[in-house]
Amino acid sequence: MTLDTTAPALAVVVHYSEIGLKGKNRGMFIGTLLRNIRDALEPVAPGARVEGMYGRLMIHFTDPAQEGAVRDRLRWIPGIANFSFAKALSIRRGYDFDATWKAMSEEAWRIAVASNARSFALRARRADKTFPRMSLEMERELGGYVFERAIAESRPLKVSLDHPELTIHVEVAAPFVFVYGIKESAPGGLPVGSSGRLVSLLSAGFDSPVASYLMMKRGAQIVYVHFHSHPLTDRRSVDSARDHVETLGKVQLKSRLYLVPFGYAQQEMIQVSPRTHRMVLYRRMMMRIASEVARRENALGLVTGESLGQVASQTLSNMAAIDDSADFPVYRPLIGTNKEEIIGMADRLGTHATSTEQVPDCCSLMVARHPATKSTVAEVEAMEAAYDVPRLVRESLARADLEEWGRWGRRSVAPRGIPQAEPAESVPD
Ligand code: ATP
Ligand code: MG
Repeated sequence: MTLDTTAPALAVVVHYSEIGLKGKNRGMFIGTLLRNIRDALEPVAPGARVEGMYGRLMIHFTDPAQEGAVRDRLRWIPGIANFSFAKALSIRRGYDFDATWKAMSEEAWRIAVASNARSFALRARRADKTFPRMSLEMERELGGYVFERAIAESRPLKVSLDHPELTIHVEVAAPFVFVYGIKESAPGGLPVGSSGRLVSLLSAGFDSPVASYLMMKRGAQIVYVHFHSHPLTDRRSVDSARDHVETLGKVQLKSRLYLVPFGYAQQEMIQVSPRTHRMVLYRRMMMRIASEVARRENALGLVTGESLGQVASQTLSNMAAIDDSADFPVYRPLIGTNKEEIIGMADRLGTHATSTEQVPDCCSLMVARHPATKSTVAEVEAMEAAYDVPRLVRESLARADLEEWGRWGRRSVAPRGIPQAEPAESVPD
């Protein structure tokens, strides 16, 4: 790609926040973020070049028509704090300083005009000190240029250093100078894949997709498990779970979804357990199956969308009884949130509409209208003596489907049940 000072190229300046504080592991975090951005942009801006420099990343792309699609991708990438579409001016060896300075001034002015702001501040940062103007000088001179030109053209534009409606940013990061106005926000947090792998219990409802998202935002790579009540009811909840996985695909590009038919196990459990405790018994069975998936996937924990007291199965004693059956730590990122807060997040995330669809949920099958809210481990263990827990776990998994989601859309990799062998080492991330 040729970049010269007379024809500024289109670029995106990407800032990360927390990764900057990561000390020794910083390189790993940045490497993961770079890879995630490249993967996300590949289908929408094939020629884009992504690189890291001076504590920020930059993306160069050629076709202005790609801007909208690039924005839609970047907005959802964990690890990015904010990003800005910018003009990039080359300051490679032998560049013409005067022409570059003029182009910087013109771009600053263009941004001011386009924004319609009535007050502005110009902020300059110089990541490499060879550029022949210091930050303060740039602020004064370029800001002065914009201010005077506004007067000359009778535009009502004032300088306001404390509360500007518009901040024009100039960043010198050789071999480029970037000039931009708007900072667009992204999730922040840590890049997906930088913290390790978790298995998320994904239902058709509101909470679990949001819980999955929150853990992705902290760098976890999520493997989903959805339980449907086939053959006791239909498989409609599967479509909702798939919709959730697809929506969350903007945050985590590639995913695996285990679809576990739960009805066979439920049929046996229903025969021999009291209605009052079935909800907790189902949940314990789910935890065991999910733990098995976690082992196969080399994951380090489980995620649920539980929130304290939201429903009968989410009391402290029932959650303690549920945890007891899990072989891994259970993470509940929504535990202290209210339903409205969760729904607000689902709204922003885009999972809201799917979550409102009424689909049969396996947990509510044949359970008491007023389930026990205070189960104890001893009590539920005694009930479980009536059925063969390990066999039900094994058989449920043997009937499960495994789907891979990614750029290619959905792909079934194990349509006739999950192989009983040891976890495949060759599973791509
Ligand atoms: P959600 O809105 O996430 O369905 P909920 O308020 O309906 O939650 P419960 O049905 O008690 O609450 O589910 C609590 C958690 O258990 C869910 O957030 C999810 O993590 C897990 N879970 C429930 N049903 C299923 C399912 N069919 N498949 C996988 N996980 C499930
Ligand atoms: Mg539910």
